[in-house]
Order: sequence, then C-alpha cells, then structure tokens
Amino acid sequence: MTRAVLAVGSNLGDRMGHLQGAIDSLASGVDVVAVSGVYETAPVGGPDQDDFLNAVVIVETSLTPHDLLALCQRVEADHDRVREVRWGPRTLDVDIIAMEGEAFDDADLTLPHPRAHERAFVCVPWLDVDPGASLPQGPIASLALDRGGVVRRSDLALALPEESQR
Ligand code: ATP
Ligand code: CA
Ligand code: CA
Repeated sequence: MTRAVLAVGSNLGDRMGHLQGAIDSLASGVDVVAVSGVYETAPVGGPDQDDFLNAVVIVETSLTPHDLLALCQRVEADHDRVREVRWGPRTLDVDIIAMEGEAFDDADLTLPHPRAHERAFVCVPWLDVDPGASLPQGPIASLALDRGGVVRRSDLALALPEESQR
C-alpha cells in the first residue's frame, strides 16, 4: 500500500457537502486514513470568486498514480464539476499533492503537485495531519507561506467515511 496526500476544495454550492461527499466517494477506491481540519481560504489566482473551503485527506492505496488521478476526477464529476475558466469557481477540486516514492511529470500528472509548496491552503491543513511532511522544496513546516488568507473553521469538521456513514 502506498500513502498519498490529496487536497480537496470547494467554493460553489454546499461546500461542506461537496467535501464530505468527496471523502465518502474516495473511500470506494482507497482507504481514507486521516482528514485535516477545514479551512476557509481566499481564492488564489483566477477570476474574482467566493472563498473556498479546503482540507487535506491522507489515503492508502495500491492504485497506480494515474488510476488514483482517474478516481479523483470521477469523484469531481460526481459532484457536478464542470471545467470552465482555469482556476475558476468549482463545486469540487481533488488534487493529488504527493504520493510516496513518486516523482514525475507527464502530460496528465505531475507529482508532487508543482504548486503545492507555494499554497498555504494546501500546506496548512496538511500540517494538521502530518507535521513532518515535506516536499522537494523542503519540510512544509519551514516553507515561507503567506497564511493570511487561510483561516481554520473550528465550527466545521469533516468525518472519516465510516464515521459519516454511521
Ligand atoms: P492547479 O493544478 O493549479 O491546482 P486546477 O486544480 O484548477 O489547478 P484542474 O483544471 O483541476 O486544475 O486540472 C487540470 C489538469 O491537471 C488535470 O486534468 C490533470 O490531468 C492535471 N494534473 C497534473 N498534475 C496533477 C495532480 N498532481 N493532481 C491533480 N491533477 C493534476
Ligand atoms: Ca487545484
Ligand atoms: Ca485539480
């Protein structure tokens, strides 16, 4: 089994519903082992748009990286994700941030995610679930990140799939 780090985000419609739905759907293909806190984050790049809710999900899987990407994209499609403007608003975004032992760049997939190290909305929730996490750029705890637009929503919590389905 390989450990993978996924980042989920939503800024359209029932944001918590999309994030919890993503976690529950991912569980049909991978083992979800940990879920971070929920963060309200200001959009970075793209057009003017509403704030996101973001979280990081740790999974264990024997899927190949490309099969894991296909699962992430299927889960997005199940949440009515439509691809319009680049970096525009979306019901659900599921990115693979890193996969143990995998480092490559092809037409469909770059691992680790090439922009993760500059994104507080990825690194801050990731630190919740793995304080020792690192990227090629260094330990994420020591990256210079602008955390200004990333606020913990202590009133919100995502559940592991078995808890949410109880
Ligand atoms: P960003 O990648 O900057 O977060 P985005 O999530 O808005 O932008 P999408 O439109 O969701 O971008 O995805 C565009 C393409 O990125 C996908 O079709 C996928 O093939 C590719 N991609 C490359 N590397 C990854 C990765 N590590 N995780 C998810 N998608 C990736
Ligand atoms: Ca993304
Ligand atoms: Ca994406």
